[in-house]
Amino acid sequence: TNKPKIVVLGAGYAGMMTTKRLTQQLGREEADIVLINKHNYHYQTTWLHEVAAGTINHNSARVMISDVINPNRVRLIYDEVVKVNKEEQLVELENSEISYDYLVISLGFETNTFGIKGMKNKAFAIQDIDSSRNIYDHIEYQFSKYNNEKNPDDGSLTILVGGGGFTGIEFVGELVEQVPKLCKKYDIDRNKVRIINVEAAPSILPGFNEELIDYARKSLEARGVEFREDTKIQECKKNSFVVNDGEEIPAGTIVWTGGVTGNSILGKSGFELTKGKVTVDEDLRAPEEDNIFILGDCAWVMNKEEDRPYPPNAQAAIQHAATCARNIKALLRNEPLESFIFDDKGTVASLGVSDAMGTVFSDRKIYGKSAATMKKVIDNRYVFMLGGPKLFLKKGKIRPF
Ligand code: FAD
Repeated sequence: TNKPKIVVLGAGYAGMMTTKRLTQQLGREEADIVLINKHNYHYQTTWLHEVAAGTINHNSARVMISDVINPNRVRLIYDEVVKVNKEEQLVELENSEISYDYLVISLGFETNTFGIKGMKNKAFAIQDIDSSRNIYDHIEYQFSKYNNEKNPDDGSLTILVGGGGFTGIEFVGELVEQVPKLCKKYDIDRNKVRIINVEAAPSILPGFNEELIDYARKSLEARGVEFREDTKIQECKKNSFVVNDGEEIPAGTIVWTGGVTGNSILGKSGFELTKGKVTVDEDLRAPEEDNIFILGDCAWVMNKEEDRPYPPNAQAAIQHAATCARNIKALLRNEPLESFIFDDKGTVASLGVSDAMGTVFSDRKIYGKSAATMKKVIDNRYVFMLGGPKLFLKKGKIRPF
């Protein structure tokens, strides 16, 4: 056909919602839509710390793409994107290639170890469903073998988490829920297990409000998390971190949550990068590109008023999708494009199943059970947006705590 072809790369928050909105806003005769993703499922990146700690099953955190995107309306291709060739308007995939008239790049983040020796190859990272499952399997294996070993007190039950940002804190929050269950299952004294979080900055959760940080620290310490703030990781070895002036912290499981950057395909495709991402124009297009949008964790979107980029998160990725879909429609219809404006609804970090903290409704602080409830409302809101009541009943967080 000679209909324009819109190709969306990556079925995360930004890619799924862009595709969904395009199907709602465009007539079939207006454009062909193609969605390309590595897997045939979409996963909830913001729930991966729960998969990694084993507090939820990985299947709860994923949805078959064809369950929420009509395959008769959108061509679904499950393949790995290798590179974008801008000159020829082609996307190279592992097994084929595809041309586009309009391109949406929403390939998410990659773990960034900032060159810390050994970290990339020796630590686990919470990157996607498979890597997160792998972490929990490894943790459980440490427990299952413990009582079978002759000389087990070697730190094998220590879980070491590098990075005390949002992900690291949410992850240790889930670990304190899961560890007692594992202890019971494998007849292990809870006191033998250590959960240690290492953060280089003077405090965990850099950028968060002081009161909220204190709340999180106290709540997690009371449940057995040890914090090592102001502690610089020099090297990650197979079974330890070397920190500060050479002190070694042994562990059986090491997870790096200390940093992410944009997908490396951006660099391979020749986009100009700032700290691994593309600084997009107000309408979310890549600079100098009329037909390429870059969304979610691949993009820096500038907050003009504060002269710095908006924080990258799922909330923003979902909002990018709405603006992007409207702007593609505008391009197809020769109408003016709109500028992205972030509507910050707040941030809530979970600290386990029944505790959380954060800000909602322009900086109102919330803590404890009410914050945990709010967190579930946020999680469920997205499930509902993506797949309506049917998906909500299947994948919503409706379990009580
Ligand atoms: P993603 O949702 O990560 O999607 C990227 C997609 O691209 C994936 O489906 C992936 O499989 C696919 N893909 C990647 N590479 C390729 C390739 N080469 N070929 C084909 N497909 C590919 N944000 C919040 O707002 N609130 C939170 O509470 C929160 N909690 C978080 C907790 C954790 C543990 C983590 C890791 C992040 C959290 N975030 C949170 C951040 C949020 O998850 C990200 O900002 C968000 O996922 C970005 O969305 P995205 O669409 O850009 O990428």
